[in-house]
Parts: sequence; C-alpha cells; structure tokens
Amino acid sequence: MGFRSKLFLPGSVAVMIQAENLEVVYATGTRALASTTIAFARGRFTVLLGASGAGKSTLLRALNGLVRPTAGRIEVDGIGPLCSGRVMRMHRRRTGMVFQQHQLIGRASVLRNVLTGRLGYHSGLRTLFPLATAEKRLALDAIERVDLIEYALRRADQLSGGQQQRVGIARALVQEPTLILADEPIASLDPATADRVLGLLHAICKADGITAIISLHQLEFACRYADHVVGLADGSVVFNGPPARLGPAEIRRIYGTAGPLAVEESDVQLQPRTGTYA
Ligand code: ADP
Ligand code: MG
Repeated sequence: MGFRSKLFLPGSVAVMIQAENLEVVYATGTRALASTTIAFARGRFTVLLGASGAGKSTLLRALNGLVRPTAGRIEVDGIGPLCSGRVMRMHRRRTGMVFQQHQLIGRASVLRNVLTGRLGYHSGLRTLFPLATAEKRLALDAIERVDLIEYALRRADQLSGGQQQRVGIARALVQEPTLILADEPIASLDPATADRVLGLLHAICKADGITAIISLHQLEFACRYADHVVGLADGSVVFNGPPARLGPAEIRRIYGTAGPLAVEESDVQLQPRTGTYA
C-alpha cells in the first residue's frame, strides 16, 4: 500500500494513527501482540483497557517506535508509515509520552525537567547553549497549566507522586504534541490523586484538541474519562467501542473468563464525570 496523507474511519472520522496487522513477538518468544489492526481517531481520548500482561505497554511502545514490530506496520496521518529514521523523528517530536514511573531527573528542578521535553526540537549541539527565553516561557506556561507554578524551581524529588506525574504531563505539553501516549499514568497513585491527575490530563487534551491514547487497568477510570475504549486481552483486541457499550460480557472478555477480579458489574453504571479538574 502506498503513502496516504489522510486516513479515515467509516463515517469520515479522521484517523490520527493506525496499526495494520501489527504483531510483536519478543526475543523470549512471548507473543505480546497478535496480528492487530486498529485505528485511533483524531481528537479522541482513547483508553487501552486490559489486565496486567494484556499487551497495553507493548502496543503503546510500538505506536511510538520504542518496540520494533515483528510484522505489520504503523501509519501516522500526514506523516505516512513509520519506516525510516526521519519519519520516526518527525512522529516522536509531536508525540508526548507520559509514563507510570514519570522518569524525572530527581535532582533537577521542575522547570529543568519540563524543558527536557523540548530536546527533540534541537540538534545535540544546540542543547549545550542556554535555552531561549521563549522556551522557558513555554515551559512555565505548561507548569502553570498543571498547577505547579509555585514549585517550578523546586527539586523534582521533593514533590509528591501526584505532583511528579503532573510534571510528566507538563514535560509532554512543551513538545506541543498532537498526540499523547500515556502508559498507566495513574497506576502508582491513590484513587483520589489518580482521578485528579487523569482529570487534568483529560481536560488539557480536550482543550487543546490533543489525541490521547492512555493505558489503564481500572474499568472505573476508563468509563469516567474515555471517549472510546480499546479492550485488550492476551495480546488481542477484544473490544473496540464507546464505554457505554461495555456490558458484563464485554468486561469478562477483557478481564478473562473468570471475570474481572476486582470489578463488580455495578461498576459499569458509573456516574458521569463531575465537571472539570478543580
Ligand atoms: P501490559 O502493559 O498490558 O501489562 P505488556 O505489553 O507489558 O502488557 O506485556 C505483554 C506480554 O509481553 C506479557 O506476557 C509480558 O510478560 C511480555 N513482555 C513485555 N515486555 C517484554 C519484554 N521486554 N521482553 C519479553 N517479554 C515481554
Ligand atoms: Mg504495562
């Protein structure tokens, strides 16, 4: 198949990124992703939902070129297939990554950590020079949006887990991303902090029109924030639809035949989310 600059789903829904017959087998022989074809719509907040080991991290890493597919390919709207270093660099520059272990430099300030999000924009040599005022402005704006401006000059390791995760979000934002990929961004946080961090990420993506693909293992948070859910089990997509279509049968398919361990069927009927991040 040749290069297509515009990708669409049925109903003229614009596609941001899609995987075609994507398969990942690790060197150990583990087939983490069976042949998978899936498209992610532009502007949507999509949650990859699945139990531990389902293949969520593998799919996210493949979407950013951190894992090389054994078969199949990934195509990005407006860029084309991820097949060369040049295309990969273009894609990564506009893709913000948020990790479970926020991967901050503990000894460096919040501001310095957030500025590392700009590194993709510079050649190796450029990073040796003082950063332009415009870049610092961009970083401070991002820090303000995650409500940490009074911590901008504080060492990152002096912040709480929830605050550090918000630094991770700010670092992704200074890339001015069109796409944010987040791998279990709230897994290590208590439920109230998790809700605050995910609510913030959701509000920012919606305000800026950023396409988001977020992996989670908690059904409750998926139902609260996702526009769309992709359910993974044993390396295969077993659900692809809006959260309203997640019934007991679909949930069992995602979490296994024994049913989700910590999931009650009543969890499916959740309250709609309660307004924006406060
Ligand atoms: P999830 O993020 O949903 O927990 P992963 O994508 O991490 O799932 O893992 C999917 C499968 O691939 C699991 O069986 C896991 O043990 C295996 N796996 C993940 N990363 C590696 C790796 N680097 N090498 C070998 N096997 C891996
Ligand atoms: Mg994972």
